[in-house]
Amino acid sequence: MREVFSEVDLVDSAVRGKLNLKVLYSSWLQRVPIDFAKAVWCRLTTPKHRFILWQSVLGHLLTRDNLIQCQISVDSSLCPVCERVEETHHHLFFDRIFSQQVWELTKLWLGYGIWPKQFDEWKKWLDGKPKNIMHHIAVASLAAAVYGI
Ligand SMILES: [Zn+2]
Repeated sequence: MREVFSEVDLVDSAVRGKLNLKVLYSSWLQRVPIDFAKAVWCRLTTPKHRFILWQSVLGHLLTRDNLIQCQISVDSSLCPVCERVEETHHHLFFDRIFSQQVWELTKLWLGYGIWPKQFDEWKKWLDGKPKNIMHHIAVASLAAAVYGI
């Protein structure tokens, strides 16, 4: 949190002497250009899928590496499924065999030859496609797959 927000940000987000997280988060959203936001928050996508997609693309899910970074005690930083490497967003969505199978099946079902394989590719893909019904369906499918993983 200290890497993202300055002391001025925290002071400016105080309402009646208390930190208001909504004000703080809104100020952050205005500072950071997020071109893919409109694609993520598409109304065709189920709301809970949208929220998880948004959190995962921004790297804000409560993976073990994020919990440790927030100084929250966890029994191990290792992935609870494979217990070989640290649980990160990248590991959760791209390294695990299950995730790779989900992406492959989703890609085949949609009839896509190429599918984004990194978070930066997701962001470009979300923002770079023409905004037609096929793109909205693909984004809804991506969001559902992310939610399922
Ligand atoms: Zn694992």
